[in-house]
Amino acid sequence: MKFNFFTCQFEDENYRPDKTAVIGSDKAYTWNELKQRTDFFIDCILNASIPLGSPVIIYGHKQGNILPAILACFITRRPYIPVDPVMPINRIQKIMSASSAQACFYFEKNEVVKSLFKTVIDENGIVFSNTISAYINIYFSEVDPLAYVIFTSGSTGEPKGVQITHKSLQSFADWISKDYQFDENIAVINRVPFIFDVSVFDYCSALLFGGTLLLTDNSTAANADVFFNNIKKYNCNTWVSTPGFAYQYLKHPDFNKNYLHSLNTFYFAGEVLMPNVVEQLWKLFPGCKVVNAYGPTEATVYAAKIEITPEIIAFSRSLPIGYPKLGSKILIQPDATAENNEGEIVIVGDLVSVGYCNNPELNIEKFTLINGERAFKTGDYGYYKNDVIYFLGRKDEQVKLHGYRIELGDINAQLLKTKLVAEVATVPLRRGGEVKRIISFVKPENEAESKIALTEKITQHLKSALPAYMIPSEILVLQNFPYGNSHKIDKMKLLEMYLDNNI
Ligand code: AMP
Repeated sequence: MKFNFFTCQFEDENYRPDKTAVIGSDKAYTWNELKQRTDFFIDCILNASIPLGSPVIIYGHKQGNILPAILACFITRRPYIPVDPVMPINRIQKIMSASSAQACFYFEKNEVVKSLFKTVIDENGIVFSNTISAYINIYFSEVDPLAYVIFTSGSTGEPKGVQITHKSLQSFADWISKDYQFDENIAVINRVPFIFDVSVFDYCSALLFGGTLLLTDNSTAANADVFFNNIKKYNCNTWVSTPGFAYQYLKHPDFNKNYLHSLNTFYFAGEVLMPNVVEQLWKLFPGCKVVNAYGPTEATVYAAKIEITPEIIAFSRSLPIGYPKLGSKILIQPDATAENNEGEIVIVGDLVSVGYCNNPELNIEKFTLINGERAFKTGDYGYYKNDVIYFLGRKDEQVKLHGYRIELGDINAQLLKTKLVAEVATVPLRRGGEVKRIISFVKPENEAESKIALTEKITQHLKSALPAYMIPSEILVLQNFPYGNSHKIDKMKLLEMYLDNNI
């Protein structure tokens, strides 16, 4: 069996109903069971009278039921919004009001979360259902309905809901079908939580070919023995993660072909892939394929990809991020200060989102039309060389920490909301180009308050407002900030003071 994203149906090709389809943190489902579970959730959505086009939050981490819930939303044309337990209530409420979501698939126990919704469905069916008004804040189209909305960090402190339609997802699925050389033996190791869109690549690849999807939760990822045992047990061959996640295993004695026989393909995205990681993987897994893929959530997972070869490593200082997706265009738009052929990466085509939900100002700023096609200004810098794109970094304050996309402005906005601080600056500490820690500097509103009491109060507030991965590693109290010539806070100087232990 496999799932066809165009007809939105399960198909019986290569009929092996007892083949494992998905392994969740709690249970595994065969393809037959996956189909039955999906049908069950479809009935729940219809019986609960969730209006067509109304978003449904899927609250959970890596439970086996998440995949059939996603498929049920997709088939019934109710966009899903993934919400992970890592998100505090305050953030979930913001997501609900930005998207007008009132229904929830509830797979992780949390009574407060449950009480926020008008309709709740758990693995046993409808828990309660009250009338839901039709979509309000969210994009709606009969012709091209939304498939999902994924919320990312926003520089003003409000999460941004990236709306992706069925056609964008189908176009991505089509690219995977035609250009990724997968077959029915594919067994994908999923690592990222569903709140990140690389998870869409993971399930699309497995479902399109009738393969298997291994979901890896946080506790398994932290325990290499359990994690590797799962890879062996389910003969997983396709690894998908940020480079940083693979990096931590490079020195593990079992991370090699001798132990993990089936593993032969690595897909990386989300942050810069360093040549040494690829070279080490080639040594540990001789003959393995390593692919660098690139794309923001706003352009349906990946917009470009390239298989890394020894020739590429020999001839380029940094690794390319790829050739554009089939049928899409990636432009480089130089600004006044640009050197050579460098400029902002702009993605054009049907993979581009229809915009952030309920955020007209930002939509005007980031999305545009180019020759009648949707286009997204990524904020990434890059250039073309021999038809391949190279990445140069960001032009704004968006960073990646352990693969998580974080707007430093989002953290600053939350720090200022405490009303305990007069000025703030949040800076990334980088080593070898990679962000290792995030540090926030604050100037107290009340100079008499003890540093310990102040940081304690601020940390409490941040924990209630931001997902755990966005909390700065350190909050340092300064009575005076250093300023540069333009009267802006001198962040370089702050970092220098920090590194010199001068704070
Ligand atoms: P996200 O929306 O979380 O997928 O993050 C998208 C951002 O991650 C992009 O705009 C880039 O800044 C960065 N990114 C994604 N893929 C790569 C890559 N292969 N190399 C370098 N940076 C990447």
